Amino acid sequence: MDLNCPNCGGGVPHNLKYAKLVVCPQCQTSLFLEDDAVRNAGERSAIADDPSIFTIGLPFDYRGVAYVPHGRFRFDYGQGYWDEWWVGADTGEALWVSVDEGDIVMQKPMELKSAPPYERLSLGQTLKVGSDQLKVTEKNWSRCLGYEGELPEVIAVGEEHGYVHLSGPNGLLLTVEYYSDKTQIFRGHWIDPFEVKTL
Ligand SMILES: [Zn+2]
Repeated sequence: MDLNCPNCGGGVPHNLKYAKLVVCPQCQTSLFLEDDAVRNAGERSAIADDPSIFTIGLPFDYRGVAYVPHGRFRFDYGQGYWDEWWVGADTGEALWVSVDEGDIVMQKPMELKSAPPYERLSLGQTLKVGSDQLKVTEKNWSRCLGYEGELPEVIAVGEEHGYVHLSGPNGLLLTVEYYSDKTQIFRGHWIDPFEVKTL
């Protein structure tokens, strides 16, 4: 389905039925998608075009599965930034791929009735989440610097959220994100960047 940008009238490609936020490729206006309607989100977003392992629309292979990046958020965490790519797989599922310089982690949302409260977690603490035995390896705040492409979440530029990394054996990583209105958990693994091959 193609939509038109309410700011510049240009076409806005829209591949994902669950996309909620799309940046107009012509004028960089951020657009909300709601019930097949498109609404100006009232801000522009652009991400500095520095070298990146991924490119929107350019497929890559990881361990025999083909993925296509649809969009990304960029977050500042004080000592630098990371990108969170929203990626669709040829298996039909979608996931997040986070890139912090050379480190890459693939994660999917995890259903959990309740997450450990941010205030109660401290660095080095061990805890069990679901069946995973984990250790708190990072606890910090981050701020959204911008985004591009198509995304399934609406996060404003400048919006801040707390996050905690919970690490387990064999590269297991759970990330808990604390927003003012919700807490989300993502579960996945660190992956070897050399196994990511552009198609
Ligand atoms: Zn536009």
